[in-house]
Amino acid sequence: MAHEDCIFCKIIEGDIPSAKVYEDEHVFAFLDISQVTKGHTLVIPKVHTKNIYETPANVAKELFARVPKIANAIKKTYNPIGMNLLNNNEEPADQSVFHLHIHLIPRYGEGDGYSSNWVTHSDDYEMTDLEAMAKKISDNTEK
Ligand code: 5GP
Ligand code: ZN
Repeated sequence: MAHEDCIFCKIIEGDIPSAKVYEDEHVFAFLDISQVTKGHTLVIPKVHTKNIYETPANVAKELFARVPKIANAIKKTYNPIGMNLLNNNEEPADQSVFHLHIHLIPRYGEGDGYSSNWVTHSDDYEMTDLEAMAKKISDNTEK
């Protein structure tokens, strides 16, 4: 079901123009208007779902099942030296459009437009700390 006032639902329906890369019954993929790197593509489910938290397993399954072939199509087209997949959930994590989407960001080397500030804290955790944390998350995982 299309969600009122959702720009990505409007893109799926053709009410807002987009540069379409791929479409089938479950999924739509199009070029991100920001083109962080050349070929930067968004893959979205046709079903409106706000973000990963609200996504039923079957929607996630159909969505991610298409990602490898779209990634390979971008790779074949622009010959990047790598590719990052990114999915932002909620505003503090940089989600700005509230229809689930996976960014495919082909990489071309230093200064290509994409950067992540990944800081390791591995020195702060012993294996026992990690095990205790993992158990808590595991206990909260829906059976
Ligand atoms: P987010 O920040 O939610 O992870 O990503 C949203 C992305 O949607 C941004 O990278 C932004 O450039 C892209 N975007 C927003 N509006 C439009 C639009 O109307 N058309 C296209 N093609 N991309 C859009
Ligand atoms: Zn939507």
